[in-house]
Amino acid sequence: EMTNINELLELVLKRLRPIASKQNVELILDSFRPVNAEIDQTKMTLALSNLVENAIKYNNPEGGWVRVSLNADHKYFYVTVADSGIGIPEESLNHIFERFYRVDKSHSREIGGTGLGLAISRSAIVMHRGAIKVYSKENEGTTFSVRIPLVYIA
Ligand code: ATP
Ligand code: MG
Repeated sequence: EMTNINELLELVLKRLRPIASKQNVELILDSFRPVNAEIDQTKMTLALSNLVENAIKYNNPEGGWVRVSLNADHKYFYVTVADSGIGIPEESLNHIFERFYRVDKSHSREIGGTGLGLAISRSAIVMHRGAIKVYSKENEGTTFSVRIPLVYIA
């Protein structure tokens, strides 16, 4: 069964828009093409929501932006979640997908969380035979990029 990924992302952003406005964060969706894929809707919605939620909550306290983009080729669809936030220190980049890991920095410690979101996202992405990568620079921002096969092959 195929899911419209454009609609799935619109729903994810719609649900998180109130939190973003409260934090003065602009939420942008760039859908470069129509995408239909064979995914578990509940798990994929949670995986992508966790990334967008992080991008909002670890944003610049003065306000900033989150840009979600969707693209595809003949084999995969690609979602990137980029933010103008506090960034992740280089020495933490290898740990953020571990359960309960949180960056120990005064600003990120003030922001609540259990450290499970990214572990949940990664396991859902791996379950879909996908991949997730992170690029980040402290005090500049972070980009997560996700690649998922359009068709699931067991
Ligand atoms: P939870 O998601 O369970 O509520 P959490 O947000 O702390 O808690 P994760 O989503 O797993 O947990 O993220 C782990 C850590 O990685 C965060 O505590 C934060 O330090 C860092 N992090 C994740 N996403 C970002 C981001 N977009 N910008 C800056 N730091 C981030
Ligand atoms: Mg989180």
